[in-house]
Amino acid sequence: MMCSRLRPPLPRLLLLRAMGTAAPRLGASPQPDLLSPALAFEDPSAFRVKSWGELLRALGVFHLCSFPLLVNNCGKLMSVARTLLGRRGFSLLLQPTVYAQFVAGETETEISRSVEKMKLLGLRPMLAVPIEEDLGESTGEKRYDDNLEAMLECVRMSHSNTWSKDPMMQLKVTALLSPELCVKITTLIAQQPYDPSLLVRAMDGEPIIFPGLDESEVAHLLCGLQRLNRIGEASVNKVRVLVDAEYTYMNPALSLVTMAMMKKFNKDSAWIWNTYQCYLKESRSLLLDALSLSKSEGFCLGVKLVRGAYMDNERKLAEKKGRLDPVHQSWEDTNDSYNGSLDVMLNAISQKHERYRIIVATHNEESVRRAAKRMDELGIDKDGGSVCFGQLLGMCDHVSLTLAKEGYAIYKSVPYGSLDDTLPYLVRRAQENRTVLQGIRKERDLLRQELWRRLRPRGGS
Ligand SMILES: Cc1cc2nc3c(=O)[nH]c(=O)nc-3n(C[C@H](O)[C@H](O)[C@H](O)COP(=O)(O)OP(=O)(O)OC[C@H]3O[C@@H](n4cnc5c(N)ncnc54)[C@H](O)[C@@H]3O)c2cc1C
Repeated sequence: MMCSRLRPPLPRLLLLRAMGTAAPRLGASPQPDLLSPALAFEDPSAFRVKSWGELLRALGVFHLCSFPLLVNNCGKLMSVARTLLGRRGFSLLLQPTVYAQFVAGETETEISRSVEKMKLLGLRPMLAVPIEEDLGESTGEKRYDDNLEAMLECVRMSHSNTWSKDPMMQLKVTALLSPELCVKITTLIAQQPYDPSLLVRAMDGEPIIFPGLDESEVAHLLCGLQRLNRIGEASVNKVRVLVDAEYTYMNPALSLVTMAMMKKFNKDSAWIWNTYQCYLKESRSLLLDALSLSKSEGFCLGVKLVRGAYMDNERKLAEKKGRLDPVHQSWEDTNDSYNGSLDVMLNAISQKHERYRIIVATHNEESVRRAAKRMDELGIDKDGGSVCFGQLLGMCDHVSLTLAKEGYAIYKSVPYGSLDDTLPYLVRRAQENRTVLQGIRKERDLLRQELWRRLRPRGGS
């Protein structure tokens, strides 16, 4: 209520979003069928656990995020600020603000401090090494080996510290296998499908033939598969590894290697998970294919369900290449797709909870409520291991904290690393998630209400 006067006019998309995420849908009565009134996510007391510093920092950062001009140009603005302020000045500006809001720290001690705090609040960390490469950024075998070491370190940290029950981490395949090769494999398997079992053999060190790849490409593929195999071996029975989805021009290759990893490592439980981006028109059929493959091949399936972070680029690329837009036409279509896939997975889990797992990775309150309601209807345990929720560190804490309080398993995606290492990731994240960032008004309002409560003289109404 406090800030509605000051809100800039909302474009149609944001208005529609606000109807679904930042507030109950227009015309909807206050959710008569809510499992718990807390799942209206209207209670600012979730923020009582925040220190003054954290409260003010979150308010400041979210205030900045409410200016689309800033968010859309944050990459350029940051490089200008860096030139003007110098490295030290830039770090003094960002370290206590944006970095502290969205990144856990650089050293294990810093990460541990930040994760221990989360643990006290019932939140679980899902560590994410912020390494990403796109086309033209490939850097040679040595770099991929260094990335492997960083990933193995991430497995070790996730497992050896007793930070959470059932630890999880994120993995970007393009940190271990060149994006160019992933694009080429994507093109090749569109013409002739490739059997993931052959990749399993390659992971075990057997030579393979991959029609259409030259000798050096096959050699790089083998190195990449062996790197993935090392991650699988290090994490199985210890840490669940959630493979990220990226762009449609490489996702089929990422899924192929992920399916091979699942086939090898998911015999008794889902240790390797794949991501399904529901903004894609084909996402439902990809999910159904994965379900049927997991049945026919006898492996367990872990699913990270997201809406998807690369919408603008996907659309631009499709237009440039004269291809059909792979993304649903509207936010509502993406929502329907998300909800539909959610139902598919929850139904599968209700039938065989030991074979399937899902993380409902979203900041969308409506989707979270829907998942919670279906879990209740289907008799799925809040913390039984087969369904959990996920949000990004520093975002939508009112949702995460409330879910934790209500007894659900909730993970925060936690990037870590130096300011230099995490900056490109943060910029990309801000741009990719700007629809969410612009939709954080509700969180800002709740933070303001908490600030107001603290400032009000005691005994006042
Ligand atoms: C734990 C975690 C892991 C993640 N891993 C991945 C990953 O591996 N790959 C990945 O791509 N993303 C990933 N994401 C990012 C995720 O895709 C974004 O956070 C998400 O898209 C934002 O949507 P939302 O569900 O939170 O909420 P909402 O705010 O409800 O939805 C916003 C999203 O809706 C979609 N959308 C918006 N407008 C339109 C439109 N006009 N037409 C069609 N669709 C539209 C877009 O996907 C947009 O991002 C991850 C997020 C989390 C929390």
